[in-house]
Amino acid sequence: MKLPKELRDKRDIGGTVKTRICSIIDCSENAIRSLSENAWKKYIEKAGLKLKDSATRRLYLCKLHYNQSNKVRKSQEKIFQKKGFLDNSSSSKKGKWEI
Ligand SMILES: [Zn+2]
Repeated sequence: MKLPKELRDKRDIGGTVKTRICSIIDCSENAIRSLSENAWKKYIEKAGLKLKDSATRRLYLCKLHYNQSNKVRKSQEKIFQKKGFLDNSSSSKKGKWEI
């Protein structure tokens, strides 16, 4: 079944190509990424950025602010990985030394 032309046009307008503005205070760049607030808020705050108040659970970041937040996210992940690795190796070494 084909949709009437009217409906199809409406769909195109309300689609995913809507332009969003970056959610960082004082920034009015177009966003390149839509992110979940739960996952990204902590990284954005660590990057020293402040979010505009928003009613949605989504964050929109421009290229610059996405890069800044992503840098923090990557460095945090590295710390966690290193820590886990060191904890494992040091505890197994300890065991050997004690014998
Ligand atoms: Zn921005």
